[in-house]
Amino acid sequence: MQHQSPYPMVSVDEAQRLITAQVTPIGVEEVDILRESADGRVLAEDVYGVEPLPDMPKAAVDGYAVRSTDGDAPRRVVAEVTAGSTPGLRVEAGTAVRIMTGAPIPEGADAVIMAEQTEEYDGDLIVQRPPRAGENIHTVGQDIAAGQLVLARGTTLGAAEIGLLATVGRGRAKVYRRPVVAVLATGDEVYEPDGKVFPGGVRDSNRYALMAAAREAGCLALSLGIARDDVHVQRAAILEALDRADVLLTSGGVSMGTRDLIKPLLAELGTVYFGRIAFKPGKPMTFATIERPASAWSSPLLAFGLPGYPVSSLVSFEVFVRPALRRLQGDAHPERPRVRVMLRDPLQPPPDRPEYQRVIVSWEEGRLVAHSTGRQGSSRLLSMLGANALLVVPPGTAVYPAGAELEALLTGPLAPPDMIMR
Ligand code: AMP
Ligand code: MG
Repeated sequence: MQHQSPYPMVSVDEAQRLITAQVTPIGVEEVDILRESADGRVLAEDVYGVEPLPDMPKAAVDGYAVRSTDGDAPRRVVAEVTAGSTPGLRVEAGTAVRIMTGAPIPEGADAVIMAEQTEEYDGDLIVQRPPRAGENIHTVGQDIAAGQLVLARGTTLGAAEIGLLATVGRGRAKVYRRPVVAVLATGDEVYEPDGKVFPGGVRDSNRYALMAAAREAGCLALSLGIARDDVHVQRAAILEALDRADVLLTSGGVSMGTRDLIKPLLAELGTVYFGRIAFKPGKPMTFATIERPASAWSSPLLAFGLPGYPVSSLVSFEVFVRPALRRLQGDAHPERPRVRVMLRDPLQPPPDRPEYQRVIVSWEEGRLVAHSTGRQGSSRLLSMLGANALLVVPPGTAVYPAGAELEALLTGPLAPPDMIMR
């Protein structure tokens, strides 16, 4: 019996490069940002402002529109303009117009004095000091110039971006389609979490965790259920993904056991780019593409064979799958940010391959500090709990002392200090 993997060991960088080379952004669709939720979608076009904003000079505060050349002399208040009223008034020398925030500046006026810095008696305005020319006036195009690029293709839409689309009059916008990610669990020992589990069985956490991770990455998740360790059952499930999804994630069945069938199946149905990575946790992760018969899907199925251990499967997803899912959606910044963090506790590196350890990073006394989430076993899902970063630990023999600095991938917001257990 052959106990050597036929797949050469590739580095993390090489694996990422091989995946990226197969990923091209998927189709584009139009979304009605006024009536549908567009949050989290990635913009597929550059968006420009058409008119300047503001389109005419406007009052920045409530007060009086005046001529600065009148200095600190009293003025006669001749009219009032409110926001939304049409321009047309004129401020002559020695006069003022009462004006509200957002109202157009009357002709002749070149300053607005804040109401708080004035007094008005029987239509006579007393000012505390001479106004400066231009004071409290929003000039044309001050916020957005005519024709200015306001949002670039590849931007992920959040509150500010949706506000900007509305500001420039774009009720509809082109966004990338959400990739459909099918998730298949494998294993004779794997059971639905809410049913009976036979002795020795495990509940299927991977499928549900991976579906949630895919949704968090902006995709639509589709469950393909649990496939027994049977080549016909697993082949049928993979073929189903060809019809129904952009991406297939499988869990389990990629190790060296006699019932690990995913790698040979992917090789039979498509092209395997790698089947082993110098990476912990998740060495047996496999990546393949499968061509489809002419179908609605434009590009080949991207298939990721993720390891069965829950931590391995989620960490492999984070390091290899998530960037690919973001690239598929045209995200201009598909990678997580990398930061340098200080180790709170000493750490033993793995001897032979880089390890991505789960840590909680917080801002303490002017630096980013990484706290371990405890034992890092690949079956201990609790080691993912609360983690907002993956610490990249290069292989070696020497212990990293507390206070040493390493790189980390930030996978979530910095932890508030009260989250750190001391
Ligand atoms: P495998 O890679 O198929 O040998 O699986 C390795 C180990 O991962 C198994 O022994 C199970 O304990 C665990 N495992 C496999 N699939 C799942 C799953 N869907 N959910 C939770 N644990 C799993
Ligand atoms: Mg298995």
